[in-house]
Amino acid sequence: MKYAGICVDISHEKVDKLFTYRIPEQLEAAVEVGTVVVIPFGRGSHEREGYVLELMDETDCPDDKLKTILRLSEKAVFVEQRQIKLAAWMKQHYGCSMAACLKTALPVKRKVEGVTVREISLLAEKEEAMDYLALCQKKHHVAKVRLLEQLLDKESLEYSIVTKSLGISAQTIRALTEQGIIRVNAFETYRTPIRVRHLQEPKELTQEQAKAFDTFQADYNAGKRGTYLLYGVTGSGKTEVYMRMIAHVLSQGKQVIVLIPEIALTYQTMTRFYDRFGDQVSLIHSKLSEGERYDQFERARKGLVNVMIGPRSALFTPFEQLGLIVIDEEHEGTYKSDTNPKFHARETAIALSEQTNASVVLGSATPSLEAYKEALEGRYTLLTLSRRVMRARLPETHIVDMRDEMKNGNRLPFSEALLSAMRGRLQKGEQTMLFVNRRGYEGFVSCRSCGTVVKCPHCDVALTEHQGGRLVCHYCGFERPKLTSCPVCGSGQVRGMRAGTQKIEQELSACLPDARILRMDADTTKKKGEHEKILQSFANGEADILLGTQMIVKGHDFPSVTLVGVLMADLSLAGSDFRGPERTFQIVTQAAGRAGRGEKPGDVYIQTYQPEHYAIVAAASQDYEAFYAEEIEMRAVVGYPPCGHMLAVLLTSKTAEQASKVATALATRIRTWGEGKKLIVLGPAQAGISKINDVYRFVFYIKSKDRQLLEIAKDRMELFMKINEIKVRGTSIAFDFDPMNTY
Ligand code: ADP
Ligand code: ZN
Ligand code: ZN
Repeated sequence: MKYAGICVDISHEKVDKLFTYRIPEQLEAAVEVGTVVVIPFGRGSHEREGYVLELMDETDCPDDKLKTILRLSEKAVFVEQRQIKLAAWMKQHYGCSMAACLKTALPVKRKVEGVTVREISLLAEKEEAMDYLALCQKKHHVAKVRLLEQLLDKESLEYSIVTKSLGISAQTIRALTEQGIIRVNAFETYRTPIRVRHLQEPKELTQEQAKAFDTFQADYNAGKRGTYLLYGVTGSGKTEVYMRMIAHVLSQGKQVIVLIPEIALTYQTMTRFYDRFGDQVSLIHSKLSEGERYDQFERARKGLVNVMIGPRSALFTPFEQLGLIVIDEEHEGTYKSDTNPKFHARETAIALSEQTNASVVLGSATPSLEAYKEALEGRYTLLTLSRRVMRARLPETHIVDMRDEMKNGNRLPFSEALLSAMRGRLQKGEQTMLFVNRRGYEGFVSCRSCGTVVKCPHCDVALTEHQGGRLVCHYCGFERPKLTSCPVCGSGQVRGMRAGTQKIEQELSACLPDARILRMDADTTKKKGEHEKILQSFANGEADILLGTQMIVKGHDFPSVTLVGVLMADLSLAGSDFRGPERTFQIVTQAAGRAGRGEKPGDVYIQTYQPEHYAIVAAASQDYEAFYAEEIEMRAVVGYPPCGHMLAVLLTSKTAEQASKVATALATRIRTWGEGKKLIVLGPAQAGISKINDVYRFVFYIKSKDRQLLEIAKDRMELFMKINEIKVRGTSIAFDFDPMNTY
């Protein structure tokens, strides 16, 4: 008789262990480590799926307790050994159930049969298509122009890329089809979403680029694998260096994962990789369906593609011959997962690279403190690009003290200096980008008589005013109609504080009535493809000013932008978050980096109420080292990451008393246990947002220089929760190592 240790596909601490099952004789040959099987589970012996993680010849489990595997799961995909290994690493490192870690490491678990893919290509002869293009240009049919230009360059484009990423409507496609200019074909199997006619030759590298690449190549050829930090100012040609590295690794018969923040996954970025590597490239993004995603991973597993590009989850691409992981904009907060397991893609990539003997290249103009510290201390190899390509100069920056504007009676969100610079650009026909350092609707609603802020009845957060005065909770989705009177004092003076982008747009067009303004925020990009549509239209010169939130900072090159304004630069300094200054420095530097990408030099205006803050000053002079020196000292004093480690422990429960009681018990345990050890326990306290969806939240922090000690503490807490099952009933625990935000 053979037995299997099975992880049940339920993400709960209580079942987070291996359960032993009998393997029936007829399945003995089929069941391996990694097989997904159907088992009877629990008191009712309900059918559940489980992952076989262990095989045994004997067991000390009593015979009458043993159940038998029912059958192999039909739809499930085989789990590879190395995926199990990575999941196990995540479990140990981040504290989460094995089932949840397996789910994360295997984001595609279901086969979806019969995917048909539609593809658009030119039907007309090239000449005819060019004539038609000229006609569309004359008539300002911008969508048709956009599509035809791409099709004259590319052999074919997948339908969904055209509608979603290029932002072209089905009507436009139909119109062009009826004219006989283009055609739409359907295919049964998955094809490359963009097929190019001619692959582009690599550019000749600048001296700095060549030096960075040579270091990497020499190491790679010598069999040396490691982690590299490519630290290069904006526009210094990091992508070009990645592509050389990728080409080299491919030439060695290896495969490559490229991670980019979802927000940067624009059509422009995508095509850069397709133009260079053609159908060796595949793409994962959040707009793919589960079936499409499965197909992409299958293609990777079979070696039909060798480069996978995508956000965080692309890290789990099942390549057999992984040789390199590139993480672009490695400082981005989106690389940290905000659901369990709360893994960081950078750390996980490095763990994966060690398991698979691959290298990791991290790139940024504003490296995370974590990465730069590692590089300075020699654990990562530092590769530096200090100059922009093609002698494009860095822009000139001006810090504007908004307190002076207030004193001079200017209540507008724009300073006099910025306004006059914008007027100048309008006259010269150059473009401006205005970057608002906050989300589209931060507009909470309050009573001007008694000061009451209108909150969500289920969550401890202010409701946000949307179009038409509707109030919405951004955490649970609760909605209520417009408020006409204060729920507390009855006064009619309830108003929204709408300082969002919409309000700024109104004020901007009042100041500059002739300017053509495009606004890009969560509001104007809700529909698929709108994001790209706005960027395209701005790139085509259809507007003078692009006003937007963080999403305008990335992904596109606009050579005719010569002016960048950063409004409310210091907003991200507010609050208690220890990463505030770092975020401010990054946002301001990246925004400033958008100016002067072309021939003409650029200007940047940074508006702030804290002009002397080191994050603002350093960003204005694009001086990363100065910022790093100040910030790392601050972190060292209080032991914040990367100068120490921090574990946030979050307890959630239906009642505040229960959450508080369990948090206190745990914190006390760890304090007692930690005596004489190098760790500090802070709290517990009510979380900053004390409830979400009627679930109460308590949090405490453990700090230590020794990450392993924190992992041991985590193990003890997990054990405590298991042993005291009855006492802690209804309470959940979650861990967050080196959190990106305070709770
Ligand atoms: P980064 O990723 O560092 O911001 P990019 O890779 O986007 O920089 O490069 C900025 C611009 O310079 C791009 O338009 C790119 O095509 C161009 N470029 C990069 N390297 C070279 C080179 N060696 N020769 C000519 N142009 C280059
Ligand atoms: Zn009131
Ligand atoms: Zn709510």
